[in-house]
Amino acid sequence: MEKSKIRAILHSDANCFYASCEMVLQPELRDKAVAVCGNTEERHGIVLAKSEKAKKAGITTGMPNWEALKKCPDLIIVPPRFEYYSRFSKLLHQIYERYTDYVEPFGLDECWLDVTDNIKSPMTIAEEIRQAVKDELGLTVSIGVSFNKVFAKLGSDMKKPDAITEITPDNFKLKVWPLPCSELLYCGRQTTVHLERLAVHTIGQLAALPLDYVEKKFGKNGHSLWHFANGLDESRVAHKDHYEMPKSVGHGVTCVENLNNIDEANKVLVSLSQDIGYKLRKTHLFACGVSLTVKDKNLVCQSYQLKLGAPTQDELTISRAALKLLKENYSFKDPIRALTVTAINLNGEGTPTQAILLHDYDADEKRSKLNCAIDDIKNTFGKEIIKPAVILDESKMPKNRQKDTVLPGLMHK
Ligand SMILES: [Mg+2]
Repeated sequence: MEKSKIRAILHSDANCFYASCEMVLQPELRDKAVAVCGNTEERHGIVLAKSEKAKKAGITTGMPNWEALKKCPDLIIVPPRFEYYSRFSKLLHQIYERYTDYVEPFGLDECWLDVTDNIKSPMTIAEEIRQAVKDELGLTVSIGVSFNKVFAKLGSDMKKPDAITEITPDNFKLKVWPLPCSELLYCGRQTTVHLERLAVHTIGQLAALPLDYVEKKFGKNGHSLWHFANGLDESRVAHKDHYEMPKSVGHGVTCVENLNNIDEANKVLVSLSQDIGYKLRKTHLFACGVSLTVKDKNLVCQSYQLKLGAPTQDELTISRAALKLLKENYSFKDPIRALTVTAINLNGEGTPTQAILLHDYDADEKRSKLNCAIDDIKNTFGKEIIKPAVILDESKMPKNRQKDTVLPGLMHK
């Protein structure tokens, strides 16, 4: 096989992304200690992002709001506005796409770019992007420039904010190998602890181990980590139009007050299912199963799931399935604190399915037409304009549920 040419990969990471967006939207917040936090009135408020100044005051992501305020009494807490952050994210992508079609997002604020085929040098492109983001959006990015995705990501972490770090085949042993293993992508806490126990502390030490030893200790993940450590990551940057079908569509809430009985819980289930049905129809996906996760007042979580008779996008079918799971499995010995409903085993449109005898396909058809009509109304007048009567009184639901969904930015290291 012909030896492939050295790739030019950039990883661009928007600094303090949510907080920086808020500072562009509200210039009076500039140079202040700012934290974007989950709602303080609700019980689960935590810091989602902080400004440079708040960071210097010791505020960390994931810290409860009360603790953050204790640490930094003049901290300005603002609620998150994801619709704006996702607009900023799109504008960032537009800047990246001036240089390549290979732009792969990692959360809202990070992207890999493969600029191998661009005639400009990767360092020139990185510099132009850094400047353009600053001039056009008022945000700053830190960029890692390297010959693979893993080192590019490492590079973007090395100097920030508003900085560029280059890691080359010639300097990676000097720059990367002294770093702790935990800096490597996909080297999680457990693996790090396990490595420590084997007296492997740095990426260089990991790289120097025999591959079969690492594989024996860590399996498939060990195989990847060893290759990453040696600069041998060959994973590709996805095309900007690449679409990965989601594996599930879920919505969960921590309720403002605990739920004590099936009626109270049902209101929450119906409400959560509304969003799921809407999202399934928007993404042209069908659920073949439903899962329900119940967190009780002692924070103990239990999950249940069932298979549906026929694939569906209908919120009523989904909420009924969730209610059935709750009735069959939960005794209310402890009140419920949080509920999550998830549509699982998703199928794309047109996936052939086995017809089911005695299933009322006419009723499905009618529900589907009704749902589409309701979607049109929601698209025009907003999602709150129309809802089932059973959830007109949503006293135990948090006021703005959008804030409660899992944030992509919190899921990776
Ligand atoms: Mg970032």
